[in-house]
Amino acid sequence: MLDIASLTELLAQPKKIVITTHHKPDGDAMGSSLGLYNYLIQQGHHAKVITPTDYAQYFNWMPGNGEVIIYTEHPEQSAELIAGADMIFCLDFNALGRINEMGELVGNSKAFKIMIDHHLEPQDFDDYRCWDINACATAQLIYRFIVDELNNKKLINKDVATCLYTGIMTDSAGFSLPNTTAEVHRIAANLIELGAPNSRINELVNNNSSENRLRFLGVCLSEKLEVLYEYNTAIITANKEDLEKYEVITGDTEGIVNYALSISGIKLAAFIVERPDKVKLSLRSKGEFPANDICKKYFNGGGHRNAAGGISSDSLEQVINQFKSILPEYKKLLNE
Ligand code: 5GP
Ligand code: MN
Repeated sequence: MLDIASLTELLAQPKKIVITTHHKPDGDAMGSSLGLYNYLIQQGHHAKVITPTDYAQYFNWMPGNGEVIIYTEHPEQSAELIAGADMIFCLDFNALGRINEMGELVGNSKAFKIMIDHHLEPQDFDDYRCWDINACATAQLIYRFIVDELNNKKLINKDVATCLYTGIMTDSAGFSLPNTTAEVHRIAANLIELGAPNSRINELVNNNSSENRLRFLGVCLSEKLEVLYEYNTAIITANKEDLEKYEVITGDTEGIVNYALSISGIKLAAFIVERPDKVKLSLRSKGEFPANDICKKYFNGGGHRNAAGGISSDSLEQVINQFKSILPEYKKLLNE
């Protein structure tokens, strides 16, 4: 284990640093990674962000995006960088399975591993940890890491501020979730003062859809939504043909599940989608209902209480039926 003094000492000299985050990175994963990247390069470090997979095009405007390496597109270069790194920052995930094949490479690397994360039940593969499940976003923890632990607020320039603001804005669902504390608002205010163009960031992330994405959403809401009032549960499903017809690309399905949860009285919402090699579930819940429990127990996944995900190798129809068959077990909680 490293302490903050030895970590500070390590960072005092230029190092070879890899920053990585979970597969199909979201706004917090990209915002945290690029925020830290833009911080580290100011100190002369050789830093690289490597994502396990591609990500939504509405994050490709972020400062430093042009330097990101996508593992699936450059596996050899990525493996070389990971093997040769002095330090690896693992951001917005805490289990090596969340970075697909990269997990083995990171696990085998001799580099110091720094985990900065806000998910439950961290795996023990790190040498230094900045972990808080009450944080609304990993970007909030990166801010604390730079300001409180490294004492380097002066290096939060416009680029760093922009990326961290994006992470906080997206993971707090636009400053709306219960973990959007006064501290979160204070950090956001500081980031705006340090140059984050808050209104523009919202525009680039939330008002940047293709026509197809919007039409696909329309079909999901009008034709694919099923409401099970007995269980206060709403389900939206999409099969391969739907995805092909609307040329759905990475990021296009993000947020659809929240529309199902927005129906009055609904406690649990599921978006179940047929991907080429598996069926993916995204669950969201309100209040105390443990969406992560269902994902962990039945769908090889996990996540937070109110936002969780999982996968299955069964057919779409089987997964939908399985999901419905689980609901009676949770009927009491769903009707509280
Ligand atoms: P999403 O529905 O956006 O894919 O995931 C929602 C939340 O659940 C995210 O915070 C994500 O980190 C978590 N999550 C999604 N899939 C998995 C999984 O397979 N395992 C674990 N542990 N968490 C997941
Ligand atoms: Mn996050």
